Amino acid sequence: MSDFLEKDVVIVGGGPAGLSAALVLGRGRKRVLLCDAGTPRNARAEHMQGFVTRDGLPPSEFRAIGREQLRPYDVDLRDVRVASIQRAGARFHVTLADGVKVEARRVLLATGLVDEIPDVPGYRELWGHAVFQCPYCHGWEVRDRAWGVLANADASLYVDFALFLKGWSSNITLYTQGGFQLSAEQRERLVRAEVRIVEGRVRRLVLSADAKALEAVELEDGARVAQDVLVVHPAQRQVSLVKDLGLALDELGFVKVDASLETSLPGVFAAGDLTTRLQGALVSAAAGAQAAYRMNHLLNMEAVGAGPAK
Ligand SMILES: Cc1cc2nc3c(=O)[nH]c(=O)nc-3n(C[C@H](O)[C@H](O)[C@H](O)COP(=O)(O)OP(=O)(O)OC[C@H]3O[C@@H](n4cnc5c(N)ncnc54)[C@H](O)[C@@H]3O)c2cc1C
Repeated sequence: MSDFLEKDVVIVGGGPAGLSAALVLGRGRKRVLLCDAGTPRNARAEHMQGFVTRDGLPPSEFRAIGREQLRPYDVDLRDVRVASIQRAGARFHVTLADGVKVEARRVLLATGLVDEIPDVPGYRELWGHAVFQCPYCHGWEVRDRAWGVLANADASLYVDFALFLKGWSSNITLYTQGGFQLSAEQRERLVRAEVRIVEGRVRRLVLSADAKALEAVELEDGARVAQDVLVVHPAQRQVSLVKDLGLALDELGFVKVDASLETSLPGVFAAGDLTTRLQGALVSAAAGAQAAYRMNHLLNMEAVGAGPAK
């Protein structure tokens, strides 16, 4: 295998965003290298919900189908981490973790995000099962069960979130974790909507004997609240490659992109979770396609010596 490659586009990340971009670019007759480090965000979930025609498909199967459908095209798919990306004039020098060097005309970052699982005993074990981050992804399956909302930021955000979740379950408990004081008005809104409020700090999650289900939330004073599921928003961070590139980020830490999904570094595009709070497989796939349309357009116009259409 050659240790030097020339490609039109290197795509970093083989989740929904990267696979979708590769399909568009492959069909646009571009030479594509798609690299994936194999750490998808939804790795712990058994099913991927809410993707039209794919509702309930295991995430690994989704990826396998996505890869299979790239076969007819000039898409070189590699299970390898991209170690670095450097700008070299109008091109990019990309180095893979296995030492292979690549010259590319455009780069798409589809690297997702890393969820920072907090150090609460039981949390990691149940992540993606009874502890989940998105009601659209997993709410239907546990509708009307006992839901807890584990707050880790300011009150206003979580008061509204707890109220919003009443659309899935009548049985909602908000754990403030002693992190903020509820105002009288906030408390009144929660009480009126019959959202239970627990203000003590959470010590651990009590798991079932087979460690597959949540039984209760245990507070620091030893009290236990029976609970079936927890909805959480752990902190998230960008992968190191994105940090190394020094791209502009917004105030929440997402990669800033313009309307064409180009980042602050011209020629480097970004699509999927790393750019937005609106995180879902379908949304990421759509963004991947959008970035690919733009890159393909630019490459076609460059090839005939014309600038991009305004
Ligand atoms: C527990 C859980 C359950 C979820 N369930 C659902 C659901 O049911 N339905 C739904 O729509 N959404 C769900 N989501 C959200 C969904 O997983 C994400 O929105 C979606 O995967 C984002 O796609 P992406 O392509 O942006 O990133 P990802 O799918 O995270 O893919 C990013 C890829 O980039 C790779 N990568 C990172 N850095 C590098 C590098 N340097 N070199 C090479 N590769 C790299 C990673 O290994 C990874 O494979 C869930 C999320 C979580 C956490």
